[in-house]
Amino acid sequence: MLYDNHGRPINYLRLAVTDRCNLRCFYCMPEEGIDYLPRKELLTYEEMERVVKLMVGLGINKVRITGGEPFLRKGMMEFLERLLQIEGLDILNITTNGTLTGRLVPKLKAMGITSVNLSLDTLDPQRFFEITRRDSFDTVMQTFHELLENDMPTKINCVVMNGRNTDDLIPMVELAKDYPVDVRFIEEMPFNGSGASDKNHAWAYLQILEHIKLKYPNIVKLEDAPSSTSFNYQIPGFKGSVGIIAAYSRLFCGTCNRIRLTPQGMLKTCLYDDGVFNLKNLIREGGDDEHLKTALLEALRNRAKDGFEAEEKRNQFGLPVSESMATIGG
Ligand code: SAM
Ligand code: SF4
Repeated sequence: MLYDNHGRPINYLRLAVTDRCNLRCFYCMPEEGIDYLPRKELLTYEEMERVVKLMVGLGINKVRITGGEPFLRKGMMEFLERLLQIEGLDILNITTNGTLTGRLVPKLKAMGITSVNLSLDTLDPQRFFEITRRDSFDTVMQTFHELLENDMPTKINCVVMNGRNTDDLIPMVELAKDYPVDVRFIEEMPFNGSGASDKNHAWAYLQILEHIKLKYPNIVKLEDAPSSTSFNYQIPGFKGSVGIIAAYSRLFCGTCNRIRLTPQGMLKTCLYDDGVFNLKNLIREGGDDEHLKTALLEALRNRAKDGFEAEEKRNQFGLPVSESMATIGG
């Protein structure tokens, strides 16, 4: 088992396999002027597999594939097959926008993907277009139904945006009434590629909860799993559950069990840090597994206590976070 310098067990890697995306969610990416990484700057599949194997050897047993949009990267299904063969990797999850995922769902289920998080911020097609700047609502809903028809455990990620989709919160909650899905509301964070955000207007955890309680005062708190990032709730009679992720308030740092690897191989020990070292460079300079292991353990010995400390330490100029979430993976 891996532990950090604050005694937190680390068993979860979030692996962002590409920075490219076919949507342009305004909270994640600017509409234009995106400089995608040149292909040679991306970790290759072989490099990612090597890193995952090494980390699993150290105690990681859960990996989430994310991006950008993972299924935009050619060869993704073969890569997933290879990861699934790694002994000791118990859980392999995917986060996707659902635009390219629908027809792949039966295969994903058959090969052993544990669960899928589908990003969906509204049930209104016009609002979907305004948020994502693309006309893909029907396709994403088809993926939603494919996931359920194939009994794929499914969570819905819904970013709460002041004045943009707050009218959608109750219809989104009610998805869990009709379907066995966990609907999770995520506080909007300033990882939008431009840095422009109005923190004062962000809907925080309690505000989201109070809003839901107005319609469903009988909502019941569930016991959260030890490293859960969401506060979870059940509404009596609902098939699924409702969760709220205080990602901007950073209420879950005390039990955070995750590290991140960006598409260009930067290791992040906190969502809010700006990368602690570049694994790809170490690999391409000929670093052997012992080197990689030593660097990783060293990074975990210096992990920030929480997202506030990580953000404070991230640069000497005190610049706030502004990078696109597509370069981190969420
Ligand atoms: N493209 C895939 C998708 O959208 O599911 C995977 C990558 S996306 C960066 C991962 C998750 O991060 C999504 O659920 C998305 O809603 C969330 N996300 C992106 N930008 C965010 C922001 N500024 N604040 C909160 N969540 C954000
Ligand atoms: Fe693309 Fe996901 Fe970012 Fe939306 S949230 S722009 S789908 S990477």
